[in-house]
Amino acid sequence: MKISGRHLFIPFFSIFMCLSTLNLFAQTDAEMIQTVTGSVRLSDLGFSLSHEHIMSNFGKPIDETSEYDEDQLFKQVVPYLEYLKSLGVETIFDCTTEYFGRRVDLLSRISETSNIQIITNTGFYGAAGDKYIPSFAYSTSVTEVASIWIDEFEHGIEGTAIKPGFIKLGFDGGSPSKIDKKLFEAGIYTHLSTGLVLAVHTGDNIEAVNYQINLLNHHGVDLSSWIWIHANKYEDDRILLEIASRGAWISLDGLSSINVDKYLERIKKFKERGLLDHLLVSHDGNGFPAGGDIRPFEDIMKSLVPAMYEEGFSKQEVDLILIENPKNAFRLKLN
Ligand SMILES: [Zn+2]
Repeated sequence: MKISGRHLFIPFFSIFMCLSTLNLFAQTDAEMIQTVTGSVRLSDLGFSLSHEHIMSNFGKPIDETSEYDEDQLFKQVVPYLEYLKSLGVETIFDCTTEYFGRRVDLLSRISETSNIQIITNTGFYGAAGDKYIPSFAYSTSVTEVASIWIDEFEHGIEGTAIKPGFIKLGFDGGSPSKIDKKLFEAGIYTHLSTGLVLAVHTGDNIEAVNYQINLLNHHGVDLSSWIWIHANKYEDDRILLEIASRGAWISLDGLSSINVDKYLERIKKFKERGLLDHLLVSHDGNGFPAGGDIRPFEDIMKSLVPAMYEEGFSKQEVDLILIENPKNAFRLKLN
């Protein structure tokens, strides 16, 4: 059969169109983030609390953590989120992982009812003495664990269309354990495959900090893809500043009404060093801690922000920490 020039043109044109469309998607994806009600533009996140728990069953045995008294949960959490919304909060990053209380079906209903954007996570929580690590994680390979998390990102969580917006992991105190190291390596594989940022409960465990940084370097992962969660527990600010200067995100996420002044002093040090653009501030609050009373997540808006203005911070600097940094920290890092 004779193929005319015009027919040849069509396949070439189609291939060109396909490639340019793919390229376009690649560019667009990094500007989008998954919430529990679908993907949104990063620019629409607005004022964000980067480490809170809408609810969790932390403390309960692992096989009881996915059950909630749903009437009580909605009665307590929805009005509270509406209150936070009235204080200016637009987005909350929910750090409750699978196996200590993540329920994306409930999060999505809570988000729709309260009109606050919620971002959930994938990963297993290695802190708390490994209480919330499922037993199969010890016997399966690193890549098999990673494939579970990658699948949640690609296809949705637990049969829903809801996808994670970050990877949440954790280290216990002391020398990093075999299982915590294994989960972190699975997290790196998940990051390399999806671009999701690694938010890792590390606290004051500097040995775990160094271990993670070394492994990230080994895999060629930029430190901007890693958040040191609960860095506030590490008292030596020089180390926090040094690690921020290498590109990592420092999360001071235990703010409450009693420590506002201390946080302000620490934030000032980041400002002096020109490192405000590597800082995240949040409360680690909980709207329904194992069915108990709310652990508040309101003091940034009520106390810290007014105190920052009194201390001479500009609106641009406040917005940097609470609007721009969450956007940049959680942006997909597509290589
Ligand atoms: Zn937390």
